[in-house]
Amino acid sequence: MWSREYRETRQVLHSPPYRKNIFGMPVEFKTEFLVVGAGPAGASCAWGIASRGGRVVIADRSRFPRPKLCGGALSDYGVGLLTGKGMLLSRELDDLTVALHGSLSCFDGSTLLGTWNDARPAMRLVDRTSFDSFLLRRAVEAGAVPLTGAEFLGLERGAAVFADGARVVFDRMLGADGAASTVRRRVYGRPGGGRLGLCLGTFVPLAPAVLERFTPLGLQVRFGLLPYGYGWVFPRSDDLCIGVGSFGKNVPPVDVRKAMEALLAALELNPRSPLRGALIPLPETRVLPGRGRVLLGGEAAGLCDRVSGEGISHALESGFLAAEALMAGNDAWHADSRCVSQVKKSGFFRHLLYHPVLRPLAMKKLRESDLYHRVYWGIVAGRLDYRALLQPSRAARTSAT
Ligand SMILES: Cc1cc2nc3c(=O)[nH]c(=O)nc-3n(C[C@H](O)[C@H](O)[C@H](O)COP(=O)(O)OP(=O)(O)OC[C@H]3O[C@@H](n4cnc5c(N)ncnc54)[C@H](O)[C@@H]3O)c2cc1C
Repeated sequence: MWSREYRETRQVLHSPPYRKNIFGMPVEFKTEFLVVGAGPAGASCAWGIASRGGRVVIADRSRFPRPKLCGGALSDYGVGLLTGKGMLLSRELDDLTVALHGSLSCFDGSTLLGTWNDARPAMRLVDRTSFDSFLLRRAVEAGAVPLTGAEFLGLERGAAVFADGARVVFDRMLGADGAASTVRRRVYGRPGGGRLGLCLGTFVPLAPAVLERFTPLGLQVRFGLLPYGYGWVFPRSDDLCIGVGSFGKNVPPVDVRKAMEALLAALELNPRSPLRGALIPLPETRVLPGRGRVLLGGEAAGLCDRVSGEGISHALESGFLAAEALMAGNDAWHADSRCVSQVKKSGFFRHLLYHPVLRPLAMKKLRESDLYHRVYWGIVAGRLDYRALLQPSRAARTSAT
């Protein structure tokens, strides 16, 4: 049932095509492919399908542009995926970049362990509100049909049901609806839902003179504020992105809040800055890429680094791979994927950095040599594998070339 409204909304990003038909009845769409969630995982998947000529509806409960709490550090690997696949041009990515950092400073609590100034490749920060909107726009330009303001509730007689009563009848779908994925819970049940951790963050607008105080340190990573996680201070063009999160352990929300307050106090910033919270998959959340008719991608699949919390490039990779699998009729997308293996490894290697017995040694290494800064950077930039931590000198040489 491909209606006139369907065609007309191909260029519209903001609103769903329609809510009700002329009789006031909920609308039913038919599509080959349905993507639920229009973050990086969903948008890359919808783009991948639409640009190969597949008929795809991409649904999101938010209307875009929508706010998204995130550090916005986009790894070199993520950049390579976006430009390599042709979803974005380098020039467009440059326009979406709000800061480029070639320095990394690691702290243990409030003690500076060291600043590594030649961090290469420079780390790119994007603003997620505009970045995500742009990715969705690209998917829509390629032919994906946006259904925004549409909250997915579950599956009923083979169709996806949305909060406003709309139904989408589909052949295959991708659940890319983030850490607290409803698709994952409804289709794969509670064990798939997993445990979620809380991150807190804020964006503090600063006058250029004040911001200059922070820029020489580049990206600040502050270990020791809370177990199995860190605080970050990322200077952007006219504000600081600050936050705390524990990616490797479930920390009570009250402790996350205390860590955030301690960080703001250490930075001598207004402790009453409005804070926002966001959930993140924890190691107990099994990596679950789905199988058959309903696949999962991005954080819905549990893809989030257990050391750094990084997830944008994993979301993109899973989205592109899922698009290929859905269109090829393959049962799964994740065989040989880098993101799944990297996330699984991070679950093990997190102990080297955060375990109470090993942590002092890790801090000592970061204090005494820039070798570990270089390796840490190489991993976060997506150039090195976690195994590089076992042979840092060799890995640092490889990543420099
Ligand atoms: C505080 C914080 C800082 C972070 N910093 C970084 C960083 O610097 N670098 C990095 O790489 N990663 C970072 N991450 C992780 C990164 O934000 C995520 O891994 C990434 O956004 C995952 O993309 P996604 O597409 O899977 O999900 P999301 O980006 O979360 O998108 C999911 C979409 O699904 C929609 N949705 C949810 N439920 C429904 C529903 N029922 N029906 C319809 N739509 C629904 C949402 O509105 C949303 O648009 C950070 C995370 C947090 C919490």
